[in-house]
Amino acid sequence: MAQLYFYYSAMNAGKSTSLLQSSYNYNERGMRTLIFTAEIDNRFSQGKVSSRIGLSADALLFSPTTNMAEIIKSENGIKKVHCVLIDECQFLTKQQVEQLCDIVDNCDIPVLCYGLRTDFSGELFAGSQYLLAWADKLVELKTVCYCGRKANKVLRIGNDGIPVYEGAQVDIGGNEKYISVCRKHYTEAIEQAKLMNQGVIPKVAIHFN
Ligand SMILES: [Zn+2]
Repeated sequence: MAQLYFYYSAMNAGKSTSLLQSSYNYNERGMRTLIFTAEIDNRFSQGKVSSRIGLSADALLFSPTTNMAEIIKSENGIKKVHCVLIDECQFLTKQQVEQLCDIVDNCDIPVLCYGLRTDFSGELFAGSQYLLAWADKLVELKTVCYCGRKANKVLRIGNDGIPVYEGAQVDIGGNEKYISVCRKHYTEAIEQAKLMNQGVIPKVAIHFN
């Protein structure tokens, strides 16, 4: 029986690399995969999943209004789909996660979702919330903080080098950087940023190394 998988991590844990490797493994056996990525992600060219180590593959785009079930069923009707892979799955809506459950349960197609668990303020993304709740398999892809501990938090660093702790969950077209850190260093960095913004300590970029 097919299952719904949620591969989650902080930033830069090799999610796209892992997705592309899984897709390759299916294709190598003559099986067809469908890859989706979020329309919101403009880091690379549109309609592609690219990994930092240079691999890439064409992808269909989803926005909050995309009917995932309709597209997958239509493609499966044209030619059998053996696996669906979704990058940036934190941007899925609750309804889209329900649609993916339908695909797994009623079309018997495995769906592998890759994405972030939490945003820069430590809150769950909507897609991640429902995947954590409903996926059959939860798999953590681990990455490390500069201190060597497991990185399970994402810091948004502003143009001034100071961590940002307020604002929209998705920063479209922004120049902010994101780095993965452990919980201890996340909390320390946010505390320092607050003191800087209150004028208690001088404003200087925090270095993570
Ligand atoms: Zn750390």
